[in-house]
Amino acid sequence: QVRTRFAPSPTGYLHIGGARTALFSWLYARHSQGKFVLRIEDTDQQRSTEESTRAILDAMEWLGLNWDEGPYFQAERVTIHREMIRKLIDEDKAYYCVCTPEELEEKRRRALAEGRKPKYDGTCRDRKLPPSDGAVVRFRCPQTGTTIVEDLIKGKISFNNEELDDLIIQRSDGYPTYNFAVVVDDAQMNITHVIRGDDHVNNTPRQILLYEALDYEIPQFGHVPMILGADKTRLSKRHGATSVMAYKELGYLPEALVNYLVRLGWSHGDQEIFALDELIELFDLGSIGKSAAVFNPDKLLWLNQHYIKSYPEEKLLDVLQPFWKKSGLDVTDSDYGLHIVRDLKARAKTLPEMVESSLFYFTDEPPIDADAAAKFLTPEIADHLGAIADELTTLSDYSKEGIEAFLRNLAEARSIKLKTIAQPLRIALTGKTASPGLDDIMLTLGKERVSSRIRRAVS
Ligand code: GLU
Repeated sequence: QVRTRFAPSPTGYLHIGGARTALFSWLYARHSQGKFVLRIEDTDQQRSTEESTRAILDAMEWLGLNWDEGPYFQAERVTIHREMIRKLIDEDKAYYCVCTPEELEEKRRRALAEGRKPKYDGTCRDRKLPPSDGAVVRFRCPQTGTTIVEDLIKGKISFNNEELDDLIIQRSDGYPTYNFAVVVDDAQMNITHVIRGDDHVNNTPRQILLYEALDYEIPQFGHVPMILGADKTRLSKRHGATSVMAYKELGYLPEALVNYLVRLGWSHGDQEIFALDELIELFDLGSIGKSAAVFNPDKLLWLNQHYIKSYPEEKLLDVLQPFWKKSGLDVTDSDYGLHIVRDLKARAKTLPEMVESSLFYFTDEPPIDADAAAKFLTPEIADHLGAIADELTTLSDYSKEGIEAFLRNLAEARSIKLKTIAQPLRIALTGKTASPGLDDIMLTLGKERVSSRIRRAVS
């Protein structure tokens, strides 16, 4: 059975890049009917926070990346890690090292000055030191041979063991290092496919050597290329929002972000829009590109518009509520809310944009700009509009079609073109020169609001 995992360090929010890695891992598990495990790698006591753990879980939930197991917390597993370190020491595959950071730094500097690649020189390797305060534990790394990573995305990568250091596996504070803890946890959690960012690719040979030393079965690895900004540098705040939840706040739908993220690196022909079940069906690791992907905010916006347009109306009403609240509106009449959503959903790129264009529905006296009034609300037009307000009271079929016919007949009876009154009417009702279709707005506003807004505009 396929078992994948996402193993974030809780040292900040969930980044767009992390979310994409999580998504690939999740999709692969779902595609293979396997399990997706969430593990919080919080062994860095200084930098890990509960707040950040919460933020990561919230973002995963918002994206719909549900996990079958976990969250496991790596810090709660330290006893297990220490046991395995003990085992390696007993088997002479690891040793205590008391070289001080100052000594190491000095040697490093000398190596660089002499044009050598800095590498731990093995001072403590054969000293068989006992545990002591401030000592670290190092892994006795094989000094010959090569380690090969058969990467599912990047293909075969080989590393000379000679270039690998005697890796520190336990820090002087007694905590295991990332490379060690990740191996023990992935092995003990029976992870079959380690899918992660390619910033970890150089760690993989070290981890493979640890798997071997610990007699664990080695999983398969897939390293996902990074995400770049338009200027081809690593995606960062300079390029705009990088946190998943910032996109929620900016009024993006999770479906749009998921669809966007998956296409950032993975492809299926030239298809752009994927329903989630379709993604699960089609996703494979082999179709992930080998080179870095460039983040394109316009494409994300385009997808968001697509998802807003095709979202179920009730759901759209739900996700709009917090945005309405933020601009001081409390939309409790859900019938009215649904009508508004229906009028606007085909036109908005983001939720705040939808809120912005919905404002006129909530003010009985939408402000009318003086220029527009002078141009469109002339006495002659005012007379036509007044007639609309009067005659509307007797209109029995107040439906989209009924309203349309009513306006057409009224224009005909007064020997004017519908066009002559359409824009003035729009201005009277909305205060704006652009809005959804008149019949839609009139239907949503209802007879009463329409009449009173017209009377006010022409008074
Ligand atoms: N905690 C590591 C990170 O966030 C996990 C890397 C991995 O997936 O092995 O970078």
